[in-house]
Amino acid sequence: MSSTLPNNEVSVSAECPNRDAEHVVLRLPARVATLGEGMTIRRALPNKGKRMIGAWCFLDHAGPVDVSTGDGLRVGPHPHTGLQTFTWMIDGEFFHRDSLGYEQLIRPGQVNLMTAGRGISHSEESPAQRSSVLQAAQLWIALPDDKRHIEPAFDHYPELPTHRQDGIDMTLLVGEAFGERSPARVYSPLLGMDIRCDGKAATHIPLREDFEYGVLVLTGSAEVEGEKLEPGELLYLGQHRQTLSLRFPHAAKMLLIGGEPFAENILLWWNFIGRSQEEIEAYVRQWNAGEAFGEVKGYPGERLSAPALPAATRLKR
Ligand code: MN
Repeated sequence: MSSTLPNNEVSVSAECPNRDAEHVVLRLPARVATLGEGMTIRRALPNKGKRMIGAWCFLDHAGPVDVSTGDGLRVGPHPHTGLQTFTWMIDGEFFHRDSLGYEQLIRPGQVNLMTAGRGISHSEESPAQRSSVLQAAQLWIALPDDKRHIEPAFDHYPELPTHRQDGIDMTLLVGEAFGERSPARVYSPLLGMDIRCDGKAATHIPLREDFEYGVLVLTGSAEVEGEKLEPGELLYLGQHRQTLSLRFPHAAKMLLIGGEPFAENILLWWNFIGRSQEEIEAYVRQWNAGEAFGEVKGYPGERLSAPALPAATRLKR
């Protein structure tokens, strides 16, 4: 697989006299899938038009969906390597279990950050006692080569820095903004921010020129740098911007993600990130043989099987 858009579209030379003329805007439709009983999942990353934004290499927006009847969400034990999973709860609850022995309920406004490093396995499920509506974003962060074999870890962040300006509420998920720093432990220069408002509002947010950025509307609609945006479409904004203009006609929720462009080519297959086909094949073999990824205890159901790698599928940015 390779990007259908040339990467030189986002490169701007330092001596360029008018950077505004070089500002990139790409509208990238998310792939939509339905899980279980009518839960819509919009996969904004990886995207045919853009594989990664900074080290962010995966972005799923699940719901909102009514989970008051049925089983809710149930994802059986499965492994990860070479990445961090970042779960941001918007409505409802998930229950996390992993091979390190962590069991953690996550509620709205909280983050679960699982560092797979050299290898971990986990499960996610809706608890029996739960809210009627479920909505969450799960993102993955690729670990740089010198960190991808670190020991696995799990962190739960019950509270994150918040900021209100011009009637808009922002929660700093990852990185630094409005004089605060998120406690979330990451290994690349990154930003993640939840932005929401209860009614008509507009503001500007300062950006870092060395970061590339993307915006995903979760509910409602927004005008981002003059571009009308609704759920189901990721707006890629490239680098070299100093500010972000946001305008909301009515209540809305959105995510802003950004980071220093990731300098390495990664191979993403199923739930694994590696650097070579041989490495991924070894992960698949080990997981399916019950080796190397520990055991998730207590999940009421089957573990998932890793699909075989069909051919070289190196990700190009
Ligand atoms: Mn997972």
